[in-house]
Amino acid sequence: MKKIALIGCTGSIGRQVLNVCRRHPDKFGIVSLAGGCNIQEFVDQVKEFNPKVATLAVETDVSEFSQTQFSFGENAFTDAIIPEVDVVIVSLVGFKGIIAVLDAINKGKNIALANKESLVVGGSLVMQKAKEKGVSIVPIDSEHSAIWQALDFDFNKPFKKLILTASGGAFRDFTKEQLKYATVKDALKHPNWSMGAKITVDCATLVNKGFEVLEAKWLYGASFDDIDVIIHRESIIHSMVEYCDGAVLAQMSYPTMELPIQLALTYPERFNCDVKSLDFATLKTLTFEKPDSERFPCLNLVIDAGRTGGLYPAVVNGANEMAVKLFLENKIGYLDIYESIKRALDEFNGGDIDGFESLENADVFARKIVKESFKI
Ligand code: MG
Repeated sequence: MKKIALIGCTGSIGRQVLNVCRRHPDKFGIVSLAGGCNIQEFVDQVKEFNPKVATLAVETDVSEFSQTQFSFGENAFTDAIIPEVDVVIVSLVGFKGIIAVLDAINKGKNIALANKESLVVGGSLVMQKAKEKGVSIVPIDSEHSAIWQALDFDFNKPFKKLILTASGGAFRDFTKEQLKYATVKDALKHPNWSMGAKITVDCATLVNKGFEVLEAKWLYGASFDDIDVIIHRESIIHSMVEYCDGAVLAQMSYPTMELPIQLALTYPERFNCDVKSLDFATLKTLTFEKPDSERFPCLNLVIDAGRTGGLYPAVVNGANEMAVKLFLENKIGYLDIYESIKRALDEFNGGDIDGFESLENADVFARKIVKESFKI
């Protein structure tokens, strides 16, 4: 029985992790749960899974539970990473994910990672600390899981190229003119995946794909020149690895996060995941096209910041988080997201990563620039 700490239990990924646990109760045990602001969901989960420890970002009445130890607060989730845990699933959204990741590493716990921002902002720091502590970090992100599967679960296997597929997001068929008037409702209509609001907007801007390039760089030690992005509308191929002999291995399935979640917990073994068999005769065609950098300038903006390195990716992430938040609150327009990231990068004077504090400072700086530029 694998004992799991689930950090980010009430979000989209967290709820799907619990589905995986329900499917194989003999294999997985939830030892601790850390939730955000969805109190009802959290209470229902505590009732069902009866964890030893449960934490929530906001305070609530939990007097009906006598066997669970609770703590509350913005960063209370680190209290859920307790000694008896075998694996910590980090499915928080955004910058704060790195706090959970670094805490898990410090406590010597293996990580199944659904929070890509932690590698985007602090990949060098995270990977170095994980190596020092002998902690493994395995991917839940579907593209990185696909690559990991195509590499036979071997992070050190040599390859020629990593090919990340992208659905293209909600605006893949919008013209430049239409993008000017794109609304929150439009942005949240992802063609293939059902996910949380923040990542769905990141998919629409292709910021998400830029982040995934950085994530692949850190997980697989790839150079930026060895990572390609290709638009693949059907989301059937989740990513590919090209080897030195020209062979390309792809991992395919209908879109589901439960497969990568389950595999992160059971690799190299595979168990039933209730995924429908691919019906190739019905699919008929799989299509591929180059990403359009004119309509989706965020992709290269993020990758270029990754190439520059240091604290620039943390600035990109901080600016993006603030801009997406303001966009979702209908306070700024869709195109302002790109402008916000660009402005924060232009205003930043550079700097190297020097511990968590330097990342936090870059994050705070970027958010401030964005807020000030809209006088918010
Ligand atoms: Mg992904």
